Amino acid sequence: MDIFGAYNMLNSFDKVAEIQQYISKNRLQNKSIGFVPTMGALHEGHISLIRKSREENDITIVSIFVNPTQFNDQGDFTRYPRTIEKDKILLEEAGCDCVFIPSVEEIYPSESFKKTEFSEGELGSRLEGKYRPGHFNGVATVVKRLFDIITPNRAYFGQKDYQQCLIVKKLVNDFNIPVEIVVCPILREENGLAMSSRNQLLSAEEREQAAFLYQLLQAAAMKIKGGNRNTGEIKEWAMAEFSKNRNFEPDYFDICNDADLSQVTTLQEGMRVVICTAAFLGKVRLIDNIIVEI
Ligand code: AMP
Repeated sequence: MDIFGAYNMLNSFDKVAEIQQYISKNRLQNKSIGFVPTMGALHEGHISLIRKSREENDITIVSIFVNPTQFNDQGDFTRYPRTIEKDKILLEEAGCDCVFIPSVEEIYPSESFKKTEFSEGELGSRLEGKYRPGHFNGVATVVKRLFDIITPNRAYFGQKDYQQCLIVKKLVNDFNIPVEIVVCPILREENGLAMSSRNQLLSAEEREQAAFLYQLLQAAAMKIKGGNRNTGEIKEWAMAEFSKNRNFEPDYFDICNDADLSQVTTLQEGMRVVICTAAFLGKVRLIDNIIVEI
């Protein structure tokens, strides 16, 4: 906001050529660019990434693109919330400089753009990769395309999608893309539920019930902090809690190495692990995680 209480003007582009022109203009003035890729239906979690980008860069660009190539479930793609007009107001209030809202044709003008020759490696076959085949290849493809268009100095991602952060770091490393990846903490609702665009699809009652997921992660973290070193036992306990709960249908609850997400069997002092979980609450699939330093 400026001294008159007015917000920055939000530049909005939907064509690659237009945003590239805007970027060239800013580059000529030696301005650094922070980039926050999103699928829209914005919430405070997204806004926290924008705030961080504004602290660290001269201009902040947000993209809104519901990327079809990363949805393995067509129903999920169709149901995904789309609230562009409200998003633009939130972006303006957050002081975002520019929003890029491309069409599918603009991002994928031909078939060759739809596939990045990127090997996710074993990392991509674990956790989300196992339950959402093709998902990370779609993520890598769109992130690479967006990085090619925007050429940001820094790009901001949420720890909420922990595995996605590792995949993006691998992508950047494999292709030598000159961008710094900044991972930001998870923003939560008052009851602990990790903020997510998909939460809009939950009923008021389900939103209350959803608090269970973070409670479970916290309780497992407490067990580890309290000296339990047996991951098998903790996982069994968590699965038993899921079956008592009934509202949730879990995909996984795993205690993983924080660098490659391989399963950790025996915990040791000095380790840093991430407990990751995914579960359906009704039709909505929720994911969450917590980092534990032992
Ligand atoms: P999405 O629109 O869901 O693709 O998310 C765009 C970015 O916002 C991703 O890097 C997410 O990890 C991040 N994000 C989503 N939810 C949260 C949250 N609750 N806290 C912080 N970042 C988040």
